[in-house]
Amino acid sequence: MAYVITETCVGVKDASCVVVCPVECIISTGTEPFMIIDPDECIDCGACVTECPVNAIYPEDTVPPGLETWTDLNREYLTLGSPGFPAKYQTMIEAAKAKNRTSPHANATWYAS
Ligand code: SF4
Ligand code: SF4
Repeated sequence: MAYVITETCVGVKDASCVVVCPVECIISTGTEPFMIIDPDECIDCGACVTECPVNAIYPEDTVPPGLETWTDLNREYLTLGSPGFPAKYQTMIEAAKAKNRTSPHANATWYAS
């Protein structure tokens, strides 16, 4: 099992989770507006969960209904590459970003263009 970052991170990406991860398995994804967790490195400690201001992080086996695809997205960010990853997930990411635009935690950096 591993922990999974889900849609409410998109457009927020404040990195609060990164600083508490003892194995540095939370990955920034460069210019993408979200973080992901490397499922092969996560040790299931749960330290990141309470740091997230938007409750984006769940254990893989308790990801809420409707968010299951984010489990695949976390893993496939590291395996699909380009153009495979954006081809499969860009629409989902853009929808999440639009949904989170009005979040009190939304970061203007990700909405500049
Ligand atoms: S559960 Fe622990 S090891 Fe896994 S991403 Fe969170 S802080 Fe890192
Ligand atoms: S703490 Fe939450 S919103 Fe911030 S980067 Fe981590 S998962 Fe994303």
